[in-house]
Amino acid sequence: MATEFNAFEMAQRQFDSVADKLQLDEGIRELLRWPQREFHFTVPVRMDDGTVKVFKGYRVQHNDARGPAKGGIRFHPQETVDTVRALATWMTWKCAVVDIPLGGGKGGVICDPHDLSPREQEALCRGWVRQVANNVGPVQDVPAPDVMTNPQHMVWMLDEYEKLVGGHYPGFITGKPVEVGGSLGRTEATGFGVIYTVREAMQRFGVPIEGVRASLQGFGNVSQYAAKLFIELGGTVVAVSCWDNGDHCAYTFRKSDGIDMDFLVSITDRFGTIDKEKAADAGFNVLEADAWLEQEAEILIPAALENQITADNVGRINPSVKAIAEGANGPTTPEADAVLKERGIFVIPDFLANAGGVTCSYFEQVQCNANFFWPKDEVLERLDQKMTTAFHAVADLAEETGEFMRDAAYMIAIQRVATACHLRGWA
Ligand code: GLU
Repeated sequence: MATEFNAFEMAQRQFDSVADKLQLDEGIRELLRWPQREFHFTVPVRMDDGTVKVFKGYRVQHNDARGPAKGGIRFHPQETVDTVRALATWMTWKCAVVDIPLGGGKGGVICDPHDLSPREQEALCRGWVRQVANNVGPVQDVPAPDVMTNPQHMVWMLDEYEKLVGGHYPGFITGKPVEVGGSLGRTEATGFGVIYTVREAMQRFGVPIEGVRASLQGFGNVSQYAAKLFIELGGTVVAVSCWDNGDHCAYTFRKSDGIDMDFLVSITDRFGTIDKEKAADAGFNVLEADAWLEQEAEILIPAALENQITADNVGRINPSVKAIAEGANGPTTPEADAVLKERGIFVIPDFLANAGGVTCSYFEQVQCNANFFWPKDEVLERLDQKMTTAFHAVADLAEETGEFMRDAAYMIAIQRVATACHLRGWA
């Protein structure tokens, strides 16, 4: 019988193998294997039909040695406490690898926002904040958007927090709309950040981006902006996949001569679901969920959820694929990783490739603290610098040591967090 995937066990396995390489002491290992704090709670919501529905909510703070915990809140029907723990742990490594003064946290609610009216979503956001208000905040733990949460959710949460605390604290949460203290460029940041690392990787390998093909999994915020910039730089996107909530399954949309982003976005709803009929009429091949993996392309960009490239499907990756840039958190299992290593596929690991979002969140906090907001060009320029520097530090270490990119990224991040813990006298 196949054992059930557990994201936190995967995060711990990844950590353990690098802790061995770094010969970390027992004390620091034990500290970093576990979250420092967790909050599990219920959020009652009065539904539009007058009944009360009770949702389960979480906030996990994995490590705050380098600064306040930081990370998104996910609304997802399959959310579990172990998923939130894993995502919080990966946030710690993400903030460390791009060297921003923040720790790692994550939150979640088990729910499907497709089934909630805007009023019910607002009540859920406000209820979530009421349960954790004493344990989050600009100098403790700073939430942000993640899968199926958006700037509107952030502003409801901010408003509830400010009501409770009695004052303006725009640094409480990031990913806000620009009209209420958000940063220009935050919407694009994660997807653009993925492509900055892809661009740098290609430069290192001396491959011009023109004519390079990419196939992407997902068509939400990360994937859409990654595809947009990749095409702007001269690349071709040959396929994207997306979840179809009506059919409760995913589909891949292929256009071998390259997709037109403006058109595809125009037939996509706010949850990232592409209209199958309109796509087929426009000449797209509508294929099954995993088909994005086997497309003839040089680059794969998984930008949906964890546990997508596994021992079961890694063999389906097309021989043409040279690199994988992980826009999602935890898309590749350790078993699949072993196969990628063997095949010599260059992997830009999740907590490096998708760090653009949290890096821009950090800029948002800096701007809120100064109460002075930067033009978009400046935000994106600083973001590019951070991502480029982090990418080359990891690639240099991988080259020097012969380590896989994921392990090199972990080595840098874990060292930084372990040093902060040592300096504080924690371990
Ligand atoms: N949810 C995003 C991530 O996984 C962004 C987190 C943030 O901005 O704090 O990196």
